[in-house]
Amino acid sequence: MEPLKYLAGYPPHVQERVRELIEQDRLGAMLADKYAQAHAVRSDGQLYEYVQALKDRHMRKAVPLGKVVYDSKLQVMKHALGTHTAISRVHGGKLKASREIRIATVFRDAPAEFLKMIVVHELAHMKETDHNKAFYQLCTHMEPDYHQLEFDLRLFLTHLDAGR
Ligand SMILES: [Zn+2]
Repeated sequence: MEPLKYLAGYPPHVQERVRELIEQDRLGAMLADKYAQAHAVRSDGQLYEYVQALKDRHMRKAVPLGKVVYDSKLQVMKHALGTHTAISRVHGGKLKASREIRIATVFRDAPAEFLKMIVVHELAHMKETDHNKAFYQLCTHMEPDYHQLEFDLRLFLTHLDAGR
């Protein structure tokens, strides 16, 4: 059986439940139901404004933003959701050094909540390099549902993967 790469760090019973939903062809509908809201952040310019607005609201004192772009080559798993691996340190360090925020293109057509979640994640890296406690506190400060959204994003990516 193919491993569920986006859920690799989760307990077997969770993965089993997700497999069931995929086999019954229900995962996509479930997510579409819960996250029905699309967003209008299409271009890099719009993305910059969106990120800047969130930063102004929650992280005004952090260093100014550099470049903000959608990146079609970015692998979400490596660059945003590597919470259980050491890769995250390198990834965070790079972002902090460059003040650049790259968002994987998959988020352009993802529900509005997932775009917000990933932007919150990247903004938090401007202050905290690692995926540590302070990092996640910052994330939940900006988005109280952060942890639920991150889990559901993993489901969403798993669903996209299953459809390929
Ligand atoms: Zn990260």
